[in-house]
Parts: sequence; C-alpha cells; structure tokens
Amino acid sequence: MAVNYIYPEYEVARNYDRCINCKVCENQCANEAHEYLADMEKMISDHSKCVNCHRCVALCLTRALKIVKSNNTYRENFNWSKKSMDELFRQASSGGVLLSSMGNPEPYPVYFDKILINASQVTNPSIDPLREPMETRVTLGAKPQIIERDKSGRIKNNLPPQLKLSMPIMFSAMSYGSLSYNAHESLARAAEELDILYNTGEGGLHEDFYRHGANTIVQVASGRFGVHPGYLKAGAAIEIKMGQGAKPGIGGHLPGSKIVGDISRTRMIPEGSDAISPAPHHDIYSIEDLRQLVFSLKTATGFQKPVIVKIAAVHNVAAISSGIARSGADIIALDGFRGGTGAAPTRTRDHVGIPIELALASVDKRLRDEGIRDSVSIVAGGSIRSSADIVKAVALGADAVYIGTAALLALGCHLCRSCHAGKCNWGIATQIPELTKRLNPDIGYKRLVNLLNAWKHEIKEMMGGMGINSIEALKGNRLMLRGIGLNVKELEVLGLKHAGE
Ligand code: SF4
Ligand code: SF4
Repeated sequence: MAVNYIYPEYEVARNYDRCINCKVCENQCANEAHEYLADMEKMISDHSKCVNCHRCVALCLTRALKIVKSNNTYRENFNWSKKSMDELFRQASSGGVLLSSMGNPEPYPVYFDKILINASQVTNPSIDPLREPMETRVTLGAKPQIIERDKSGRIKNNLPPQLKLSMPIMFSAMSYGSLSYNAHESLARAAEELDILYNTGEGGLHEDFYRHGANTIVQVASGRFGVHPGYLKAGAAIEIKMGQGAKPGIGGHLPGSKIVGDISRTRMIPEGSDAISPAPHHDIYSIEDLRQLVFSLKTATGFQKPVIVKIAAVHNVAAISSGIARSGADIIALDGFRGGTGAAPTRTRDHVGIPIELALASVDKRLRDEGIRDSVSIVAGGSIRSSADIVKAVALGADAVYIGTAALLALGCHLCRSCHAGKCNWGIATQIPELTKRLNPDIGYKRLVNLLNAWKHEIKEMMGGMGINSIEALKGNRLMLRGIGLNVKELEVLGLKHAGE
C-alpha cells in the first residue's frame, strides 16, 4: 500500500528558554497541537494538528511560541506544486471531495490593487472633511423614474421601500450555525450602533435577535431554512440568495453535527439532520420565476420591504443582472469569487466565478446602457479588505459594499481557513460551548464599530482629497480611478483609463 505521508504545512516553534510550562497553549488549542508531558516536565507540539490559527501565539504570555511555515519541500516545479501534490495524495487516501473555508486564495489578479485613486490639485480644490460636511449616507432601493405632483403641486411620495445606511457598508450574509451565537450578536449590535445592516444568511433568525430587526436583512435561500411569515416581517429587507461568490452554481451543506439546540430550532429542521441547500431554487428556472418569488415575498410583507437578489459573479453576470433589475427586485448583490465561506468544495471555490471588480464594472455599465441603472441599487462583496477597496468599488458603480471576512477578522479571526472543521479557536465559526464563549460580544461588537468608524473616516478623507463631498457623487465616477499594469481589455471591462492618461 502506498504511503501518503503529508508533511505539515506549519510548524510550532517553541522557545524552551521562554516556555514556563503554564499549559495555556494546551488548554487553548482545540486541535490538540500542544501537550504537556508530565514525566519530562515539558510541553511538546504535534505540528500535523496545527492549523495556524495563532490562538496560542496570541495568548502565550512569555512570547515563547511562533508558527512558522515549513521549509520541507518536494521536488516541485511550476506545473506540480506542493499544494497540488498534497491535495492529490489526500484524495487518493479519502476518495472524497476536498473542502475549504474562506475565499479563493489562488494568485488571480486582485484588480483593486491595480487601480489608483485620484486627488484634486489646483483647479478643483480638495475638501477638508474635518471642517466641511461630507455625506457618507446612502439610500438603497429603486429610485423613481419621474417626480409626480399632486393637485396642489406637492411632490407625491411614490418611493418604493428603501434602506438607509449611515455609510456604504453592510455585513454580508453569514448564517447562525456557520457562525456562533456570540458572533451573530456582535454583528447585530454593531449594525444597530452604526446604523447599517447585517444579514442572517440562510440559517434563519434566532429569536433573541428579532429586537435588531430594523438593522437586519433576512435571507431566503434555496433550502428555505428558518423562513416563515414572522421571519420575513422581522427584517428591514429580504435577500433572495441565488448564488454565492465562493461557490457559484452549487448549494450549501451544514453537517448534522452542527444542527443542535437553538440552531435546529432556528432553522426549523430536526437536530442532527444535515442542512443541505439545493444548488437551484426548485421554483426558479427563469427570470419570470424569480419575478414570482420577488412578488410573493413583497406580498407577504405588505410591499414594505425592499428585496435584494444576491448572485455570484460569473461570466454572463451583466445579462443576469439586467434580468434581475427587471424582476421587480430593488437591490442586486454581486458576490465575487474571493468572497469567504464557512465551507465550499476546494475546486469550486478556487476555479469558478470571476473577480468582483470586473463583475461590478460590467453590471454597472450594462444597466446604464439599458437605462435601468436607477431601478436597482448594486451592493458589491467578495473580499473588500479596506476603505480604499470601498472607494474603488463605489467609483466602479457600487451603491454600497458587503463585508464578511473583514468583519470576522475584526472579531478575532486569524484566517486559518479551517471554519469547515467547526473548531474555531477564536469562538467564531464553531458551536462548541467551550470555544464560543471565547468571543465576548461586548468586545466583539465594539471592535466592529471601531473598524467601520475608522473606515468611514478614511472614506471621507479620500473623497475630500478628490474634491467630492458625497458617496452619491462618487458612485460610478470612473474618472476618479486609473488602472496600473492592466492590459487594454482589462481597462475596457473596468471602464478605466491607464495611469498617466
Ligand atoms: S492550531 Fe492554533 S492554538 Fe493550536 S497550535 Fe496551532 S496556532 Fe496554536
Ligand atoms: S473564523 Fe475561525 S476557523 Fe474560520 S478562518 Fe477565522 S479563525 Fe479560522
């Protein structure tokens, strides 16, 4: 029988001069990578169990620990990398589909890093955001095509339902079940304090969080988990999830081991049963079918809630979005292929879909060309990492962005990419009580508020630098951007000039 020994990717480097055998690392590591050997009075490490989550490194008071990348190597070449060989060995052993968490890590172009932002000089003065008003509020939803007046000349309020945000940022869909209760509480409370919205994802809404309904987007996915009339009415908006950037074209799967207690009640499925969302919605095979669901959800909520349709960024995303804009939806959420996930088949995550920057630019252009851009808002997600990414996304045509991974990082995630294992040492992507209590929602929500307030300030500074004083004036304003190191076709899709032009 072939030997499938795979050398660990990371090694725990312990400085024995500093280690005081306090066993903090042993107690903190849910992966059991550390062990105290009483007879030798010594801590030892099992490198093969370490997922590089940095929990032990962060909590080691004597700074005795480091996680280092192994320098063990195969005789690799450009065609057969260590990663591809290890993955093949693993599948030859298990016969199973490879699973991964978080977003696409492959070295595809990150277009945000090849786009530069403008600044005003001389003829168009910049604006000082500390001394002059700077509008970061945005309104999402369909805008009226015409202004109607009543007999006395007053403007009729013919606005469809809208979402109002204090800044162009929302927390993206992450379900209760894939995330812990404390992570959801942190997101909900932060959304409320910041006057933005968070998103239930496809796991339903825990009864404790109905009180945050005004800052909640409730999601309806193909599995319909936790969906009932009270749930639909509880949120400020309803999102139909047609696709997700990390796994376009396939459904979702939360293993039965995670369907326990409140999660089973909230999802309305029996304890221990796998929560499998089908790849398609079984009632949607055309834009007309989508229109039916949009209409049904609006009817169920008295036409008081905007409906978002979320799709993965794929090859013909502009044409699909054009159809969605005509389906009666108020907002289109585009999710690029670097967007995170609690679990996805590795091959799908790494090879299916397209970058959000290209999808966003082409959707915005298509809707403008068709004269229907104002009939929907666009929310872009899929690895927004900083306020600069947000400014670039808005200038490429987004009304607002969704952040997921960035929000989890603010909560303590160290991107070990092991969410699918359910043993998140930071208490975020786990349901194990000893681990979930590690995330204190009082601290978690404050860190989210800090992050977004910092980003809001940076957005104001960058807008001021451009001489722009509102998000609305930045939206789709590609003159404020230039490409760097991009080819002619890429610039054409993005609708940008090259730096120096
Ligand atoms: S899995 Fe995390 S806590 Fe455990 S040894 Fe590795 S870095 Fe430390
Ligand atoms: S949420 Fe937890 S398990 Fe997932 S990548 Fe972050 S630290 Fe790792």
